[in-house]
Amino acid sequence: MDDQPRNAVQEAERVQRGIHGIAGMGAATVDLALIIAFWGQWRVVLVIAGVGVVLALGNGVVLEWLVSKTSRARVEAMRMVLNVAGITLAGISTQWPVLIWVFVPYNMLWYFGLDPWVRPRMAIYLVAINGVALSTGAEPLTALAFSLIGIFGYLVSEKRGSLLMQKHAELEKAHQELQQLHQRAIEQERLSSLGLMAASVAHEINNPMSYVTSNVDSLLHDMRDEPDLSGTLKEYVDDVLPATLDGIKRVNSIVSDLRRFSRGDYEGYTSYDFNAEVRTALRIARIQLGHVRVEESLNEVGTVVGRPRQLVQVLVNLLVNAGQATPSGGVVSLSTSRQGNQVRVEVRDTGSGMSEETKSHLFEPFFTTKPSGLGTGLGLSVVYGIIKAHGGRIEVESELGKGTCFTIVLPNVPPLPAEKTSDAALRAAGR
Ligand code: ADP
Repeated sequence: MDDQPRNAVQEAERVQRGIHGIAGMGAATVDLALIIAFWGQWRVVLVIAGVGVVLALGNGVVLEWLVSKTSRARVEAMRMVLNVAGITLAGISTQWPVLIWVFVPYNMLWYFGLDPWVRPRMAIYLVAINGVALSTGAEPLTALAFSLIGIFGYLVSEKRGSLLMQKHAELEKAHQELQQLHQRAIEQERLSSLGLMAASVAHEINNPMSYVTSNVDSLLHDMRDEPDLSGTLKEYVDDVLPATLDGIKRVNSIVSDLRRFSRGDYEGYTSYDFNAEVRTALRIARIQLGHVRVEESLNEVGTVVGRPRQLVQVLVNLLVNAGQATPSGGVVSLSTSRQGNQVRVEVRDTGSGMSEETKSHLFEPFFTTKPSGLGTGLGLSVVYGIIKAHGGRIEVESELGKGTCFTIVLPNVPPLPAEKTSDAALRAAGR
């Protein structure tokens, strides 16, 4: 049984328990009316009272206790047999007056819930009572009238039950969606505070680094022009200073990545051929994908408004990560498609996949599982910043040992950024 019907049956049982008291009162009232009607015919009164007590105890106590011992379907089948026996016994001894027939639709109100045996049980119940009643002298029209009331009463309560269940399922779904949105809002809040922090760190490092870069660069040039350098100074010119400059460049590129993550750097909006940029990214990343089979499926996407250099940067990051995670012989595939006003690009690999722990930190700056020197942990944080600035979203599906799939969905025209008026003109051109 899937979740939906199980919930429905549980809900029906809860309702059933809730109306026990009122249901008991209804049966007692009909019994009382019958006793008053047959007052003086003590044998009949005894049968009515006896049947009333047995049915009340049977339905309200014994069968409810049995629910914990056996299945609900079995208990409901026993309830049906008990009620048929009780009503036919009372009916035969009272010669089927109208008041006895009140029990028929009344009992049928209990046939609700959405388990698959409800309708067959109800049919057996009606056939059994009518069969006994008609063969023991009951009035056929009365039997028909009350059976019809019972059937329609049942159908109404069944419909009401299923509508309630549907509402319940819709509410449950809305609740889950709200929870997901809440989770995403928390995540975005966390990443945006990290972005602010990254921006101020990048700013603080950027200033001193610019004069360190220019000073070391000038020093290297000046020393290269010097004809008579001692052996040690020559070693500085040939090895130490170029290596220092490489290190400085690496720091600078980390700083600029950090600024991009915090959306501090802007390239203007332009209208560009989406697939052409995707191919550029693939060309740049190709060297890192030599050991895997690369599959591309670039469908007609047309032009998109945005920052093409940033899109290339995003895809190179994803492709390089995919290549690094995938062993020789694996597959990295890249696909694009358009869905209405959105374009979708998917980078899928058959590599190592990620643990839940890795997934939960994926877009945080400096989060990396790679050995030092190989990963800075900035790639995906930059990707996240860029996609968000384009008004898009990035999703990841990953299974350890099976692979990973990053999906990026971008609007055809991103939301208007506040920072540049010239962008507005380009957006207008791209529409
Ligand atoms: P870096 O590549 O420098 O580690 P990223 O931000 O690009 O930084 O990636 C962060 C981490 O996310 C990686 O260290 C890796 O653990 C995980 N990751 C990213 N892409 C993949 C992938 N395709 N398959 C498995 N793990 C990945």
